[in-house]
Amino acid sequence: MKPAPFGYADPTSLGEALSVLQSEGEGAKVMAGGQSLLPLLSMRLASPTTLVDINRVPDLDTVVVSDDGVRVGALVRHVDLLHHAGAAAVQPLLARATANVAHPAIRNRGTTVGSIAHADPSGEMTSVLALTGGSVTVATPAGSSVVDWADFFVGPLETSVHGPAVVTDAFFPALPARTGTAFEEISRRKGDYAVCGAGVTVTLDHDSRVTSARASYISVGLVPEVHDLTEAVAGQSADTADWAAAGALARTLVDPDGDLHASADYRRLLVGVLTERTLARAAQEAQNR
Ligand SMILES: Cc1cc2nc3c(=O)[nH]c(=O)nc-3n(C[C@H](O)[C@H](O)[C@H](O)COP(=O)(O)OP(=O)(O)OC[C@H]3O[C@@H](n4cnc5c(N)ncnc54)[C@H](O)[C@@H]3O)c2cc1C
Repeated sequence: MKPAPFGYADPTSLGEALSVLQSEGEGAKVMAGGQSLLPLLSMRLASPTTLVDINRVPDLDTVVVSDDGVRVGALVRHVDLLHHAGAAAVQPLLARATANVAHPAIRNRGTTVGSIAHADPSGEMTSVLALTGGSVTVATPAGSSVVDWADFFVGPLETSVHGPAVVTDAFFPALPARTGTAFEEISRRKGDYAVCGAGVTVTLDHDSRVTSARASYISVGLVPEVHDLTEAVAGQSADTADWAAAGALARTLVDPDGDLHASADYRRLLVGVLTERTLARAAQEAQNR
């Protein structure tokens, strides 16, 4: 199908983008990579009156790495984050998760911030923003504000941001010391959206005993959730911890839906299996950090 007719604006500054969004009203939509928005238009599942293309707005295409974390601008493509060694050193989940986002052609154009703004519970980067305790910066005509991940995601494809607004960056805090990460997902074909995925962090003390084990899942809840699994493995050695018990605990904490691709029971089973596997890997990594 072809999209319904729409207007197009390509502002050259953030202020201009916000003023077009304001003057066009509710029917206007920001477009970054277009990799989610354009298919929705083509299927006529969305029919915005105007697309406000932010690709000519300057200063939105940088990845800024500091000891505190990684700030990803709104025009940074998935592929840029995938290959950003500095970002991976400070927050390894970024490259690990981005490698699982779609296919190379889509990663070349789609943006990490666009994927967060799209708020798809099947998206990898929404889950990583939650697991790392991240936030986004939202610019509106009244000024910019920082919104914590927990206040940003409201429902599937829905965020707390309404009215004229551009998400200018996402911030992913740095990985704490003695912490390892792992990420794994199951999809029907490589590059497809995950049937289920898990990102985890494990933190150890100086005797290599577990002090924290946390997980966030993909295609499981309506919004990203972070589950604390520490009680199942607290104080146990990184080499011999009962990761299966953590997987069993995780299965009791999630509430997946069934759909065409997988039943709720199958998703719950995958949550247990992926949790057990990824926590064990993250614990090994934590010993060397
Ligand atoms: C075949 C296919 C497979 C895919 N597989 C996956 C996958 O496995 N995992 C995954 O995570 N994604 C997947 N995607 C989506 C892809 O990752 C997109 O890049 C991403 O979801 C959206 O980024 P975008 O920059 O293309 O956003 P756009 O399509 O431009 O916009 C998406 C939505 O976010 C809003 N938006 C975008 N940027 C901003 C901003 N800066 N401020 C405010 N609102 C904004 C838009 O208004 C729109 O509502 C897939 C896409 C396709 C077509």
